[in-house]
Amino acid sequence: MFATSLRCLRCGRSAALEPSAYLCSHCGAGNGTTDPGILDVQYDYTEAAAAFVSSLSTQRHDIFRFLPLLPVSQPGDVLPAGGTPLVAAPRLAARLGLRALYLKDETRNPTRCLKDRATAIAMTIALANGYRDLYCASAGNAAISLAGFCAHQGLTCHAFVPRIASTTRLDWLRRYGARIHVSKGNYDQAFREAEKAAEQEGWYSRNCAFNPYLVEGKKTVAFEIAEQLNWQTPDMVVAPVGDGCTLGAAGKGFRELRTIGQTELLPRLIGVQAEAIQPVVRRYQGQGQQIDGETGETLAASIAVQRPRNYLRLRAELRTSHGTMLAVPDSEMLEAQSLLSQEAGIIPELTSAATLAGLLRLAATEDLSGQCAVLIITGGRLDS
Ligand SMILES: *Cc1c(COP(=O)(O)O)cnc(C)c1O
Ligand SMILES: [Zn+2]
Repeated sequence: MFATSLRCLRCGRSAALEPSAYLCSHCGAGNGTTDPGILDVQYDYTEAAAAFVSSLSTQRHDIFRFLPLLPVSQPGDVLPAGGTPLVAAPRLAARLGLRALYLKDETRNPTRCLKDRATAIAMTIALANGYRDLYCASAGNAAISLAGFCAHQGLTCHAFVPRIASTTRLDWLRRYGARIHVSKGNYDQAFREAEKAAEQEGWYSRNCAFNPYLVEGKKTVAFEIAEQLNWQTPDMVVAPVGDGCTLGAAGKGFRELRTIGQTELLPRLIGVQAEAIQPVVRRYQGQGQQIDGETGETLAASIAVQRPRNYLRLRAELRTSHGTMLAVPDSEMLEAQSLLSQEAGIIPELTSAATLAGLLRLAATEDLSGQCAVLIITGGRLDS
């Protein structure tokens, strides 16, 4: 394994690679006025570079294809996450004036969502360390992902969901046999309840915002995009933003590829939030440092996060990539959702359609001609 240590993105202190080293012991979980001290996995990139290149000639197509840049020494015996197609969308590219537009189709994962990449890492570490119970707080997808992976290995999934979790999402959880804890409040409340219960019970965490190993799974989406484009970096990568783990992880992945000499450039990261709940947009644009100030409602459940817990990571990656954060109203997400179905043949969930809505907004203010963009279609579960 080429992972060497953990480093706090808030205070810079180092920590050892313990399976349950979730947050910086000095900075803690944060509160309404401070960000959590989230940890970042460090690697010996000089040593990892050659191993990374030779691992590409293996026949593996799930996330463990990229084992040298993952925080585990062996692939876990888990459902195959990743290895999803990058699909060209020429009609949408023409509409936007782009040279090329690709959709990274994460709806093809085992539980139909990008979350499976992070779950595969959580499961691998849990299995290697003898845990029998895992937990997560989730608007739906993370919990469903964990429930599916736990079902496959006979472990117990404790899912903490908000009061307003859709019947569709609850149904998926039940089908996989999860233990469901419905919160009296929203996602942020469910998150607090989950952390409290888990601390007492000693369950393993699949909360991507706090468990530093999980974003390492999510960053493989960047490795795949780059490989699928023959190691030519796209100009822009667009993703929906809730806690900020997904886009922050993609940013880390592209940066690592450049560090090991596999690519030359970084894509500009474009993050999209719902107009009604846009704490990351506000903070990144410098319109207030308040962490607990969002009260609106959106149909895009998977990004309805009032207190983004991975903001420090995302901010660093946005700055490095000269990225942008945008907010779009639900009405534009709904229009983008039909465009994706009718002009690209993919049915995304509303959150994922926000990527196209965001890019359409960008195209209205900037000339995108000659550029190549990738939309991360994070999931495809339709709610009812
Ligand atoms: C979780 C999720 C997101 C948001 O990801 P973060 O890592 O919380 O920013 C976006 N889309 C879908 C479909 C998700 O499940
Ligand atoms: Zn710290």
